[in-house]
Amino acid sequence: METKLQELKTLLMEANDLEMAGALLNWDQSTYMPSGGAEARGRQLGTLAKLAHEKATDPAIGRLLDALRPFEESLPFDSDDASLIRVTRRQYERATKVPAAFMARINTHMAESYVAWTLARPANDFKKVQSSLETTLDLSRELANYFPGYAHIADPLIDFADYGMSAVSVRAVFTELRDQLVPIVQAITSQAPADDACLHQRYPEDKQLAFGLEVIKRFGFDFERGRQDKTHHPFMTKFSLGDVRITTRVKENDLGEAIFSTMHESGHAMYELGINRDYEGSPLGGGTSSGVHESQSRTWENLVGRSLGFWQFFYPRLQDYFPEQLKSVSLDTFYRAINKVQRSLIRTDSDEVTYNLHPIIRFDLELQLLEGSLAVRDLPEAWRARYTSDIGITPPDDKDGVLQDVHWFGGLIGGAFQGYTLGNILSAQFFAEALKAHPEIPAQIASGEFGVLHNWLKTSIYQYGSKYTASELIQRVTGGPLSIAPYINYLKTKYQALYAGV
Ligand code: ZN
Repeated sequence: METKLQELKTLLMEANDLEMAGALLNWDQSTYMPSGGAEARGRQLGTLAKLAHEKATDPAIGRLLDALRPFEESLPFDSDDASLIRVTRRQYERATKVPAAFMARINTHMAESYVAWTLARPANDFKKVQSSLETTLDLSRELANYFPGYAHIADPLIDFADYGMSAVSVRAVFTELRDQLVPIVQAITSQAPADDACLHQRYPEDKQLAFGLEVIKRFGFDFERGRQDKTHHPFMTKFSLGDVRITTRVKENDLGEAIFSTMHESGHAMYELGINRDYEGSPLGGGTSSGVHESQSRTWENLVGRSLGFWQFFYPRLQDYFPEQLKSVSLDTFYRAINKVQRSLIRTDSDEVTYNLHPIIRFDLELQLLEGSLAVRDLPEAWRARYTSDIGITPPDDKDGVLQDVHWFGGLIGGAFQGYTLGNILSAQFFAEALKAHPEIPAQIASGEFGVLHNWLKTSIYQYGSKYTASELIQRVTGGPLSIAPYINYLKTKYQALYAGV
């Protein structure tokens, strides 16, 4: 059995190596590659994706999984070997249900659809992507239908990103959340908005980058195993557990952009860097779901990075970096500016309080598209209607409406957005547990120390990688299922101090 397990690990490592090589080519494409490299790079990524898929669906893996079943059953559920076999089986069964030729069709279509979107968005022309998006919808449905037996056609697609969740379970959580959020948004936005002019002076790029790096160094981001580079749309990527990269973008007239994106991506990266090194190159060696991943980025960006305690320590440091811009701006003014709440059009620019209304709209529209109750040609109008009713603001055009997010144009329709909101909910649920175990965490944050929190996250969440599903992990860490109560409590406590009537 030991030999068979070793054979399985070797095959999995080879599949992983091909995937990581693709990730490196992707990172290069988004950071340093000259534009002349685009055409060949697309082909090279396609070749690697095809090889990686062939490796990951090698029938030899299936035979080994069958042979190892008695061994798996003889081990405790949470042993590393049993977990490796269990998680590999789940991924293998999923991957082998979809023909390689169909995956290749999806990949080719996505590359074309992405290019169409990069032209359509600046031109504010939804018609330019409509037929391409119709094909995406057909392909998304076709993919779901390789997994028959679902209750809702979105379920298999939701399952890819957030294993164990479904249209019904996500919708139940989102409905409850929306009911609680709307009165908070109303109470805050009926008052005068915070003045955030202090953030929109000129802040030189090099100093912004240096400050962000100083912050995440204190968080405990390991620069021996990671680095940060610039890109258009910030992301985290990984080539091994010893090399996890983050990217950021800087706007010289918007101080928040680089600082908060650096903290956000460092949270994703520290999760990956904290995974048990024995899981390297195996299906256990990555974050467990998109929701749990996002909970870790939001912990550092929002619960830590937008807290008053954090800035009690870091604001004087920031003033040292930018004395001219900030010497006459008080901590209170700055804190209110970075926590300004307003009804807005763009998901990625929105504040903590209104943010979740944006993914909820997209999630509902995805379900309607997949169900066939909404046609792609009617999507821009449906988008405007939902922004008007849910957020109270009507997009003046499609550029900042239905065309704003890359997800549907560079990926599938279905499963793309729920992880953001699940992540926000979970960040507060996990953080509440950290505070129960270590009530000294807020005082530590206010003195620029993050070791206790970081270690708690490593021990409770990071180290396990994908060993536990999201729901198993939530149960282990919190003793119960996913709950919105800690998140609502967090928002109310924080924003009551800033706005009356919350
Ligand atoms: Zn994220």
